[in-house]
Amino acid sequence: MLAVVYRGANDLRVETVPVPQIKPDELLVKVAACGVCPTDIKKIQYATVPPPRIFGHETAGVIAKVGARVKKFKVGDRVALHHHVPCLKCHACRHRTFAQCDQYKRTGITAGFEPAGGGYAEYVRVMPFVLPGVVKIPARNSFLEGAMLEPVNTVLKAVKRLSLLKGDTVLVAGQGPIGLMFTRLLALRGMKVVATDLLESRLQLAKDFGAAHVCKVQSPKSNLLRQKHSGGHEVQSPRRTSGESESSRFKVQGSRFKVWPASLIRSPLSRGPVVPWSGSFDAAIIAVPSDAVVREAQDLVRGGGQVLLFSHTRRGAETQIDLAKICMDEKDLIGSYSADFLLQEEVARLVFSRKLDVRRLITHQFLLAQTAAAVQLAAHPTSDSLKVVVTQKGEI
Ligand SMILES: [Zn+2]
Ligand SMILES: [Zn+2]
Repeated sequence: MLAVVYRGANDLRVETVPVPQIKPDELLVKVAACGVCPTDIKKIQYATVPPPRIFGHETAGVIAKVGARVKKFKVGDRVALHHHVPCLKCHACRHRTFAQCDQYKRTGITAGFEPAGGGYAEYVRVMPFVLPGVVKIPARNSFLEGAMLEPVNTVLKAVKRLSLLKGDTVLVAGQGPIGLMFTRLLALRGMKVVATDLLESRLQLAKDFGAAHVCKVQSPKSNLLRQKHSGGHEVQSPRRTSGESESSRFKVQGSRFKVWPASLIRSPLSRGPVVPWSGSFDAAIIAVPSDAVVREAQDLVRGGGQVLLFSHTRRGAETQIDLAKICMDEKDLIGSYSADFLLQEEVARLVFSRKLDVRRLITHQFLLAQTAAAVQLAAHPTSDSLKVVVTQKGEI
């Protein structure tokens, strides 16, 4: 079969490899679609794991073979896969920190070599310990929707780490596919979402996904505020519009943060009266790998609020933070990584009912042989690209 093999930093090669053999308690799945995930991109770009491997873990497809001892599935079932499943018994699992469970850390899906997901191949072998993570895709839903279960799960897990009350205001920094999922899931829970991004096209979608306010920012280095002054902060208009001078700024008093979101963006986002929203954030979600944004978010959340890191997955990066903000202001700095197995059903309901319509997030599909180009685009998004998916048959 065809597979895209990682052979070293930024080295993905289309190769012919054997179709995986399955054991009596395993499944063989013919891959239909596999999402390109930032965690894999990082491994490919920086060679953080030794080659060779076949990546791709946001996988959906059709069951091609069922081991003799597997009763729950049959050949022809359309399924979405999870490559990590916790044991639910160990110390970490009893604390519901599944990402720290030893079994969870093992990858249970492979197309050959050291198991790494295998979704960038024609077939994958699904090992017994991840069978509980296999979800059937309803007839009305597509493989693309199935392939989105895993990323949506990681986002819902993070949302559940926040202690929010209905009507709370949450900043979501970064409106890539993940940030947009945050925006939607928070809006569905009755939160007032303030969404920021560098790209206007993404902010438009953020509005459609339920953001109460959107705010375009200028550079990833200083994502929220342009300048800081003693006694307050200033927000500079990130984009000149017809009646606005470059230096037009909005004064913010003390720790209160005012956003005139629609005024920062040209129509159609600025339709209707612009009602300035003011107040501090109950929580901030950092869906961009910027340390400056974390520090700014720490200023912007209220005392007792939370800042959640979702995209800081590169080890070894140190940064300066004012620890008194955590200790005295009780602003929790928390992280969330990977999926929560127990949320699987809730995630499937959200996606398959289209309450969270992931179809709008998938902007590009590449054939398996073009996986390297898919990774390249996902690593360097354009104004019209969001989620990139590798498919077996072209557009599905
Ligand atoms: Zn992923
Ligand atoms: Zn465990």
